[in-house]
Amino acid sequence: MADLIERDLAVLWHPASHFADHERLPPLPVASARGSWLTLHDGRKILDAISSWWTSLHGHGHPAIVKAIQRQVERLDHVMLAGFTHEPAVELAEALVNLAPPGYGKVFYADCGSAAVEVSLKLSFQSRQQRGQPRRQRFATLRNSYHGETLGALAVSGSDLYRKTFAPLLMDVLELPVPRFSGHVHEALGSDLGADTSEADETVRLLNEHAEELTAIIIEPLVQCAGKMAMMGSGFYRRVVNEAQRLGIHVIADEIAVAFGRTGRLFASTWADVQPDLLCLSKGLSGGVLPLACVLVRRGFEADFHGDPSRSFLHSHTFTGNPIACAAGLASLRILQDETLPNLPPVIARLGEAAQAVARRSTVRAVRQCGAIVAFDVAAATPSLMPSAGRMSLTLREAALQRGVLLRPLHDTVYWMPPLNVDTSTIATLAEVTSDVLDSVLGTA
Ligand SMILES: *Cc1c(COP(=O)(O)O)cnc(C)c1O
Repeated sequence: MADLIERDLAVLWHPASHFADHERLPPLPVASARGSWLTLHDGRKILDAISSWWTSLHGHGHPAIVKAIQRQVERLDHVMLAGFTHEPAVELAEALVNLAPPGYGKVFYADCGSAAVEVSLKLSFQSRQQRGQPRRQRFATLRNSYHGETLGALAVSGSDLYRKTFAPLLMDVLELPVPRFSGHVHEALGSDLGADTSEADETVRLLNEHAEELTAIIIEPLVQCAGKMAMMGSGFYRRVVNEAQRLGIHVIADEIAVAFGRTGRLFASTWADVQPDLLCLSKGLSGGVLPLACVLVRRGFEADFHGDPSRSFLHSHTFTGNPIACAAGLASLRILQDETLPNLPPVIARLGEAAQAVARRSTVRAVRQCGAIVAFDVAAATPSLMPSAGRMSLTLREAALQRGVLLRPLHDTVYWMPPLNVDTSTIATLAEVTSDVLDSVLGTA
């Protein structure tokens, strides 16, 4: 195992990691994974409390997904989607259009979330050029948002953390305020929560002021996950979508992190009863097993791309609509409908109860839950216990891993986003270990 780590450090450049941190917390060699658990080379088991970056919906190694992948790879491993088609791509697109909020007509495949965001930005922009609205060139985004790290997606991300190094390269976007709530946000799903806030008023005012220059607004519905699990309320989301569409501004819903049951429903947008013009999916799309992404496109949107060949949307990613990934996606949708979604309400309730147990400490604030996403902010009981600046997340992550749990706090926000079929005893373990980590790192004053 030490050998594998050494070889890793010699040749790999890890994402979202600082080289110096590898000395303190070297990459852990994973040998296998089942359900909510990873098994390391030395036999230790690690509870995957964040679904391996919010991807794994039904736990690792779900037999129906494994079987679907095996069957597909034996028949057709890959073929380009330009000029060819195949059953998995068509069936998955049909299933998505049938299950999504009403009004979608086409599915444009990509291979990662950032690529899906790029596709949606370019679709919106090009449609304006071709429908005689060339002045609509600018995008709006919400503060604290995250839409990926390619340059276009980064430009529309409302967080300086990821953006500031590249600021000179990024297009100018309109940034809009967004409210944030804590508590049982999920009990208010479908309500008007957030609609009458000053942030909603200001966002609506700015949309009106800039309507003629805006081509689209991009929003993560209900939860800004990378933005420290900030929860905006479904009323805010509904009001902003409706106002933007009334003003002729396209709405791009980035459901990459929140779709497929995370908020308790297949699509987060259905809580607000809205139909965004473009809807981005990735992460859980393949069940969290293979890279896959897509954009659902409102019926009729493609009209501006007919006519002269110069009006085509010239955009492609090499592995667009890969058959194996699409087969996994189809299997995942079936599991969601047959098993995972019907069993989700008690899981959501248990996660909420577990969070209440953790929340009794003085070191925990702003406990919040939206569907199967639970988060809270933490601070040390006394200043002397506070990890040095910027080290809070790493310190908590390290302490949790020592106790067999994968947590990856976003600065001082600890969150749980386990596989949606996590069992009762695993949730109990998660709560116990989290409590223990907080007490040992932050104190109990
Ligand atoms: C992860 C994420 C992305 C980017 O997806 P990648 O596959 O990492 O490029 C975009 N938007 C949201 C909301 C995400 O959570």
